[in-house]
Amino acid sequence: MMVLTKKMIEIRNILQKVGQTKALQLPSIVVIGSQSSGKSSVLEAIVGHEFLPKGSNMVTRRPIELTLINTPGSTAEYGEFPALGLGKMTDFAQVQRTLTDLNLAVPEADCVSDDPIQLNIYSPNVPDLSLIDLPGYIQVTGEGQPAELKTKIAELCEKYIRPPNVILAISAADVDLANSTALKASRRVDPRGERTIGVITKMDLVEPERGQNILKDKNYPLRLGYVGVVCRAPQAGYFFGKNANITSAISKNESNFFSAHPEFSPESGTTVGTINLRTKLMSVLEQTMASSLQSTSDAIHQELEEATYEFKVQYNDRPLTAETYLAESLDRFKHSFKFFTESFGRPQVRELLKHELDQKVLDFLAQRYWNKPLPDDLTRVRLDEKSLSELPKADPDSLYWHRKLDASTSSLTKMGFGRLATDVVARALGQHMDRLVQESTFREHPMAKAAIQDATNSILNERFYSTSDQVENCIKPYKYEIEIEDREWDKSRENAQRLLKDELKACEEALKNMQQAVGKKKLGQAMGWVDRVREGKGQEGQAEWSVGLLEKAREGVFLRERAELLKMRLMALKGKQCKDARGKYYCPEIFLDVVAEKLTSTAVLFLNVELLSEFYYHFPRELDNRLGRHLSAEQVEAFAKEDPKIRKHIDLQQRKQLLELALEKMESLMALEKSKKHPQDGV
Ligand code: GDP
Repeated sequence: MMVLTKKMIEIRNILQKVGQTKALQLPSIVVIGSQSSGKSSVLEAIVGHEFLPKGSNMVTRRPIELTLINTPGSTAEYGEFPALGLGKMTDFAQVQRTLTDLNLAVPEADCVSDDPIQLNIYSPNVPDLSLIDLPGYIQVTGEGQPAELKTKIAELCEKYIRPPNVILAISAADVDLANSTALKASRRVDPRGERTIGVITKMDLVEPERGQNILKDKNYPLRLGYVGVVCRAPQAGYFFGKNANITSAISKNESNFFSAHPEFSPESGTTVGTINLRTKLMSVLEQTMASSLQSTSDAIHQELEEATYEFKVQYNDRPLTAETYLAESLDRFKHSFKFFTESFGRPQVRELLKHELDQKVLDFLAQRYWNKPLPDDLTRVRLDEKSLSELPKADPDSLYWHRKLDASTSSLTKMGFGRLATDVVARALGQHMDRLVQESTFREHPMAKAAIQDATNSILNERFYSTSDQVENCIKPYKYEIEIEDREWDKSRENAQRLLKDELKACEEALKNMQQAVGKKKLGQAMGWVDRVREGKGQEGQAEWSVGLLEKAREGVFLRERAELLKMRLMALKGKQCKDARGKYYCPEIFLDVVAEKLTSTAVLFLNVELLSEFYYHFPRELDNRLGRHLSAEQVEAFAKEDPKIRKHIDLQQRKQLLELALEKMESLMALEKSKKHPQDGV
């Protein structure tokens, strides 16, 4: 039993996950040969299945790292591409198609790629072997092939045939051995023929005597010798069905041939047959593996020491797994969410809504009370002279003022406040959630960000329409009648003053900013021109002003007039006429503020119950659903590794663990080898 190779292959699979560093590579058998030398036929005879890409168009463009794993006691035979995650392939035609696709994916202009394809084959009929199949050498570049193809293939092979790898040099018997490209290449790197096995294919195509001479070649003697084979199976599809094992068919054909010729008898001093080749490969690989045990173990040791040191220095030996990282991140997020829910309740929603309505009150009054509708051309903006001059004396019995106030009030109560209020609160919640994400570790995780956004939206959307309908229903009475208590009026009088003051300040600041940007004098002159035009004093001199400046000047005039109006309104609010609700026509600002207060108070009650509380209850549960329990191990790992810092931490830790595992296996293997050599030590 070749235990060593099997165990070394296991160790190699562990090391492959660590990432290939040169020092950690274990010896393999590298298969080289010219195109059509019979290289694929030999490999397929060893595996027992047709699985390599076929065709004239340079079908092998990448190295294939072929690992054969003997599975005694099992009947299943299958291939697996560990890097692709395609699962077990029991149909070898599918393995062949996959290999063809992977090879053809290398652009023709690149000729070949040194990125290896990993393929594992599990079967009770294969030996434990690790082989690397390389693109076949070509003699002349074919039509449509890049000129540098020949050198590129040779360079690629050169990389792989270095020690400690064993070279399997394939040459066809019907080609003069002195011309064998494979042997020429191996001779360059292994001049004393110490790690090359010569395989002579197509022995059936030459006279037995000549065949015998080739196998006993003295020009390039090989310590591991030459093996002659006949690998051509009888017509495919004739003897065996789809996916059938071809070894028996080939070996029957082959053994018939060799036993018919005494030149190849055991006494002849030649080695022939695929079966013998397999045995030789196994024992040579086993020996090579054994002699590289110490150096591989030293290399793993060193890598482990480096990883351990780095882990200590960078992370102070703090263990971190994707699972704990996710769990901690979730906990922290829920904690900050809880904190947020305590700071965003009824008072905050109230403030938010009132602020929104304050702006509406100003807008509606501007449209319906003070100004004529704003046309596009600001030169023609006029404040409603009648309102401006008569408002302070607005007659409570005049229908004109009744209509104006009713129109403004209706604008407020009938604008679809249910929807507006729900939207304002839902949007605020969404923005707060975005902020929480930005302040959390989740900001580095697109997947988590999307999940949180999704959870937020789905809870809010689900409740949006019912909440907005309820609010709208409950404010319905205010569409018909507004009753005002003195206390309410007094409060709104203060509110309205504050609101107008703020607005006045904003207006004055906007004008000041504009003066700073344009130049105070220049803007003043241009505004003077706009004034003159509006007073009907003609438009001469227009050419002196740029379009942009006139635009600014018109805006400046608008701001100035608005500021004047606001000042006047502020005065009015402070006056006697506005001290109680009877003065509502003199001071519509106060009246509308009372309405806005009523709308707000009513809406807050429902929004709190229907939207806020619901959201606060459901969100942590939705979060658990999306980011907690339901993620697979791969998703959790992918999540954690989205953050480059965490990825580095986890990768290093995994690397360290894998190296520890590999070293442990290596050491027990070395102990086993030692006890085989010196059985008495173990007793
Ligand atoms: P590769 O290009 O080196 O992989 O060569 P293949 O394995 O595809 O073989 C090239 C051709 O040689 C194919 O037509 C095979 O059927 C044929 N061939 C391979 N081995 C033998 C053999 O031992 N005897 C004979 N007569 N033909 C063979």
